[in-house]
Parts: sequence; structure tokens; C-alpha cells
Amino acid sequence: MRKIGALEAGGTKMVLGIFSDTGEELDRLTLPTQTPEETMPPMRTFFEGHHIDALGVGSFGPLELSKDAPNYGSITSTPKLAWRDYPLLTNLLGGRRIPCAIDTDVNAAVLAEAEMGAAKGLTDVVYITVGTGVGGGVLSGGKLVHGLLHPEVGHMLLRPHQDDPNPRGVCPYHDGCLEGLAAGPAIGARVGGDARDLPDDHVTFHIEAEYLAQMCVNLITILSPQRIILGGGVMQREALFPLVRARTQALLGGYVQSPAVLKHIDQMIVPPALYPISGLIGSYLLGKRALLP
Ligand code: ADP
Ligand code: ZN
Repeated sequence: MRKIGALEAGGTKMVLGIFSDTGEELDRLTLPTQTPEETMPPMRTFFEGHHIDALGVGSFGPLELSKDAPNYGSITSTPKLAWRDYPLLTNLLGGRRIPCAIDTDVNAAVLAEAEMGAAKGLTDVVYITVGTGVGGGVLSGGKLVHGLLHPEVGHMLLRPHQDDPNPRGVCPYHDGCLEGLAAGPAIGARVGGDARDLPDDHVTFHIEAEYLAQMCVNLITILSPQRIILGGGVMQREALFPLVRARTQALLGGYVQSPAVLKHIDQMIVPPALYPISGLIGSYLLGKRALLP
């Protein structure tokens, strides 16, 4: 049996898995994300101990994903300073020559959900995580989208909600971007507390739903996805789903003439089926593709 190592590298934790080539999970390790000096050695020990035959990585970014770049597989301009310009893939491999692949954590997640989760069998899917930040992975025509670098869905610009006391948001780079307005910390800053502690009917969730609906409209009008999957900590607030769906329809104004939008939006904007391990399973699938192209 061949073994595939999978890593979902997040800003708060690292989740490592060992899978058989038929998809059975054989082992798992979760570590807090500290500095590379602290976090890399136990990760390498784990993968080396299992004698993996291939490695797949889904990581927070931004990442260098051009295969011909000298720093392919590096984390680049992240605000997490200890990981800035860090050669993640190279240092995980430590000189071993095994098939490997790396992509964003959200591209890994959309791949997993499209292969075996909430978008099974679909070719045009977006996976959004709304957590400590906002990120989006895009599957278009059955292919993961990279383009120039890779999509940075979390930093699309939105128009302010009239009742938002903080319409600039909290992103250090942008005035009024999605992440700065709608990630968990943005909700926290708006209400002066933790988003988790608020009741479902708090006015801030209407503001939140407005921003997520603007995002859905932008995704629908640009990418024409068959399904939009909304995951991450903030989306554990299930009451957001009906609000986001209704505002998306209202903002589209009947213009996109598809029953998926007009009638069945509850099947178009959905929670993930594999949460919270969509990214880990997607990382395994990336490793498996590298092993068995
Ligand atoms: P990360 O993005 O670091 O992987 P999560 O996806 O778990 O983490 O998201 C954490 C964020 O989600 C925090 O800002 C937290 O306040 C927010 N959050 C978690 N649960 C809820 C909830 N039920 N309602 C609103 N916000 C929540
Ligand atoms: Zn931003």
C-alpha cells in the first residue's frame, strides 16, 4: 500500500494526515502554528516516520504556485512575519524526491467538496471560508484557478452598508474589502466583543449577510458558479444562510435567469459537507493526483 501525506497549513493550526491511496485515513496529527523553527521539525518527523510516497499541501498564503519559479511552494507576503518568504514545500520534503503538490487551503477545500462533498460532480464551484480571515478557492470548468498568482477572493472591494459603524473595515491594506468587513475579527470590532457571543437576531448579522451577499453576487456575475459553499467559523452561525440567500436574490434583481438562483438558491449557497476537514481531504487529493496523475 502506498501512503500519501497531507498537510492543511493554517495560521492557527497545522493538521497533518496520512492516507492510503484508496483514501482511508491512517493517522492524524494537529499542531499549533508557531514559528517555523518550532513547528517544522515535528511535521517532518511525522511524515518521515510514515515513509510517505507522496505529499499534498493546502496552505494559507499568499503562495508562489508557478512551477517554474525558483521559490515554488513558498509562502510569500503573509502578515504572519515568521512565515514570510518561507519555503514550505521544499523544507517539508527535506531533499526527498517524492511526488508532491501544493495549493491554497481554499483551493484544496473546493477540490475536496467537488470530488466528494457538497458539490460532488460539479465543475464550477467556489469555496469560501469566513473565519479569522476570508479566503476563496475556485474550481472553474473542472480546474482549480490560479491565473497570475491565485485568486484573493477575501480582498474584493464591497460597498458599505448604511448602518455599518465601521465601513472602512479592519484590513490593513484596503478600505472596505470583504475580509476587513466580514471576517470574525471584523464582526468583533464592530460590536466590541466576540462574534460567537451574539444572539442570532443581532443587527450585526444583517450587516454581515449584506456583505456576504454582495460577495455572492460578485462571484455569480464573474464566475457563474453552479454552487457556492460557505464554510469557516462565522458560517457555523446557521442563521446567516437564509439571510445571505435572500439578499443575494434581492441584489441580483432577477437579472440572472437561472432556476438555481431564482428558485433553488438554498441548494446553490450551501454549507460544506466535509467541514472542518475539507482542506485536509483536499490536500490528500492533491498528493494523490501527484502520485497517480
Ligand atoms: P480560522 O479562520 O483561524 O481557521 P475559524 O474558521 O474557526 O478559524 O474562524 C474563527 C472565527 O469565527 C472567529 O473570529 C470567531 O469569532 C468566529 N466564529 C466562530 N463561531 C462563530 C459563530 N457561531 N458565530 C459567529 N462567529 C463565529
Ligand atoms: Zn483587504
